[in-house]
Amino acid sequence: MISSIYHASETHLPRQIKDAVKLTVEKGLKAHGKAMVFFRADDIGVPSKNFEQMMAVFLKYRAPLCLAVVPAWMTRQRRDAMEDFFAKENDFFCWHMHGYRHMNHETKGKNQEFGPARSSRELLYDLSRGNQRLQSIMGKHLTPVFTPPWNRCSLETMKHLKKMGFKGISRSYGSLPAAPRGLKDFPVHVDLHTRKEKQAEKGWQNLLEEIRKGMASPACGIMIHHMRMNNQAFIFLEYLIKLFSGYKQIKIVSYTDLI
Ligand SMILES: [Zn+2]
Repeated sequence: MISSIYHASETHLPRQIKDAVKLTVEKGLKAHGKAMVFFRADDIGVPSKNFEQMMAVFLKYRAPLCLAVVPAWMTRQRRDAMEDFFAKENDFFCWHMHGYRHMNHETKGKNQEFGPARSSRELLYDLSRGNQRLQSIMGKHLTPVFTPPWNRCSLETMKHLKKMGFKGISRSYGSLPAAPRGLKDFPVHVDLHTRKEKQAEKGWQNLLEEIRKGMASPACGIMIHHMRMNNQAFIFLEYLIKLFSGYKQIKIVSYTDLI
């Protein structure tokens, strides 16, 4: 499903949206002096037209992107199809682990793959085999950060990750439980493509508020779901990257810079 803020028929971004986003970013810079921003694209593993298009935008601006790869979706063949993105000159792409199978195991409450419904052993088993699988396929290109599916996981999961040598975790802004000491928290503030507002206007208002919060944080995290992007969503993504790239006080980073 495409979020209500994007209209498939539009071929440009309305002027008032551009102005409002720019104003929010500049207010943030005025208040905080400088900012770091990171983009995180979830549900990576299956090559597609949208995936290629997203990668092309980041290549065009040579902007860092954190790619959350689902281990069970990644194969050697798919990795080979993405070969160009692993080239040395494209090392601003930061590949990392996104769950194991992206499967919900909770029987009540919100979806989680690594939530309280599972035993410590089950959690460790899936984390280990996911990590081993990615290591064998992508090896040296991996950064030791974990993005749990649906942006949430249990404390037990984070303890396992820490013992396995992971350095960071990325969930939604304000997520609990807090990450244990030694595992850095890289929250995402801005949801570009899985917004639930029925009215576009409300959606834009909330999105601006998310950018404001992000600009007030050590690093503003922006979440991408390429499979839910239409033409206007691509136009907005490019506008954001171009906007951020235009300020000396803003640095677009990846987890590699933050861990
Ligand atoms: Zn996901």
